[in-house]
Amino acid sequence: MPTNPPFYMRAGRRTVAGILVAVVFGAVLWWNFSIRSGNDARQDDAFVVAVSIPPLASIAEQIIQDDGEVVTLLPSGSSPHAYEPQPQDVINAQRANLFVVVGENFDDWVLPFVPEDAVRLDTASSSGIERITLPDGDVAVFSEPHSDESHEDEHAGEGVTHSHGLGFDPHVWLSATNGALIAERYGEVFADYDPEHADLYRERATELASQLRALAGELGEHAEIEQVAFISMHDGWRTFADAQDLFVAGAVEEIPGKVPSPQQLLVLTDAAESGAAQFIATEPQLSAQVATTLACDLGLPTVVLDPLGGEGIEGRETYQDLLRYNVEAVDEGLRKASQPEFNPCSQ
Ligand SMILES: [Zn+2]
Repeated sequence: MPTNPPFYMRAGRRTVAGILVAVVFGAVLWWNFSIRSGNDARQDDAFVVAVSIPPLASIAEQIIQDDGEVVTLLPSGSSPHAYEPQPQDVINAQRANLFVVVGENFDDWVLPFVPEDAVRLDTASSSGIERITLPDGDVAVFSEPHSDESHEDEHAGEGVTHSHGLGFDPHVWLSATNGALIAERYGEVFADYDPEHADLYRERATELASQLRALAGELGEHAEIEQVAFISMHDGWRTFADAQDLFVAGAVEEIPGKVPSPQQLLVLTDAAESGAAQFIATEPQLSAQVATTLACDLGLPTVVLDPLGGEGIEGRETYQDLLRYNVEAVDEGLRKASQPEFNPCSQ
């Protein structure tokens, strides 16, 4: 099987950027250190949290509000699968006391941002979230050799590696129920790191968590989209599907950017022809070219599901709006699929 290493392992492309980041990073550290007399450089500053991706940043922002600052590391519209930090990003992030990431290899590109004395909070593994195991079936094989002890080594030699890494779906934020757990976890951690505002953070986190649990109920009651199956752009929608009682029939690109194999095309064709899949979901951060060609071939409509949203992306700026948007997008897919005059080759 061809090897397609994740972006953070592609040495050639990253070398120049890596050196540049390291140089700027070093210079900034030195500068901080030298003008602030060697104490904890950030001690007297406001509470600043750097968050890897927009939806988690939105949760953090709603808890911190004006009592601190949230820096979002991944710019709106970028894919976490292909992001290369810019030197300016590293400079912006240096003010942070706390780095919040999804964790578990999903956003390892954050690592160059994190100063040695900063604390990193791994969201997926520390929020009490029930993990969804990725299957080893014919849809995709996700294995990261040597990094998942519970995973048999049978796939280790195949070189099929998703840039997410482990055998769990890392897109844990795509369920409002998980969002509530994340909010509670953030509230506790923020309270620890900024005791002056501890009560406010805890109160807001509790309030946000109960809002999100209500939202989970509201979105879960979307009965008409239950038991529906769709083809996702990449294998990042299992948490969402689980929360909405949907099924993912397959992924167009198991690894973002990698064209489907003949075997994979067969799975997707089967899903479409048997009526198991009602639409194909593209994603705004990934090229839709292969998916739209496939949609035309298979006679399926496409809709845009967005795992990230973010600042300046209308209707998907906040975490709650992003979740609502995706449920509405599923509705749209079903509407399109039920229109007899629908033309899959002109969408
Ligand atoms: Zn993903």
